[in-house]
Amino acid sequence: MNNTNIIVLNKINKSFPLTIGGTQQVLFDITFTIKSGEFVAIMGPSGSGKSTCMNIVGALDSATSGTYELYGKDITTMTADDLATVRNEYIGFVFQNFNLLSKRTILDNVMLPLLYRGMNINDRIRRSREMLKLVGLEKFETYFPTQLSGGMKQRVAIARALAGNPKLILADEPTGSLDSKMGNEILKFFEKLNRDFGITIIMITHEFEIAQYARRIIHIYDGHITYDGVVPKSEKTLLDSEKRHKK
Ligand code: ADP
Ligand code: MG
Repeated sequence: MNNTNIIVLNKINKSFPLTIGGTQQVLFDITFTIKSGEFVAIMGPSGSGKSTCMNIVGALDSATSGTYELYGKDITTMTADDLATVRNEYIGFVFQNFNLLSKRTILDNVMLPLLYRGMNINDRIRRSREMLKLVGLEKFETYFPTQLSGGMKQRVAIARALAGNPKLILADEPTGSLDSKMGNEILKFFEKLNRDFGITIIMITHEFEIAQYARRIIHIYDGHITYDGVVPKSEKTLLDSEKRHKK
């Protein structure tokens, strides 16, 4: 951990237009910083704004107001092209539903994002095989996603995220479609990536058991941060922070 702030969010607000007119505000003055090497869980009940927050952190969506710096770059004023470059350079994404291409082999799935980095075919194959080995799936490179279990699919998605050598992994409910055994394997793997490779991890979850794998919890409730600190001994601390907000 080298103590540099890699993410600096300052008073981020986000509203969505409603089809019936007007807007719905989903995030309110979201302010936090994340340092290189952290493993943070963004936790909160369903509908609290976690994914909206992650999409902004991942430069997939922009805030309505507020400022955001990622690796020293002002994200708020960037063009769509520049945002894509930043995403490619720094971030690996992992989603609940794996987002694999079902008609492509496992190897192809991992290789695909590397195409956008201008890597030649031999390097793409070599790099993707290395990543499949890292997640223990080197024997499955010719398989298709439908032939694999949920846990294996998520490992493919992680291999794909890692292939681009990201400094930061953003994972939105990565174990949400897995049983607890497969889920725990994925979470242990995140721990290893964070500990052994120094990759910063931001993981979204609505479950305290899962958030406990992180070393810090940012708790969001109704679009507000109600807790930001070390993982508390019990979930009650987080639920109490919601209650204080409701008052
Ligand atoms: P969470 O991930 O915590 O379950 P979300 O960030 O997905 O919550 O959603 C928070 C709120 O924002 C919900 O009320 C949801 O309906 C609304 N929302 C999310 N994305 C959009 C969108 N693209 N357009 C309109 N409303 C949205
Ligand atoms: Mg969500």
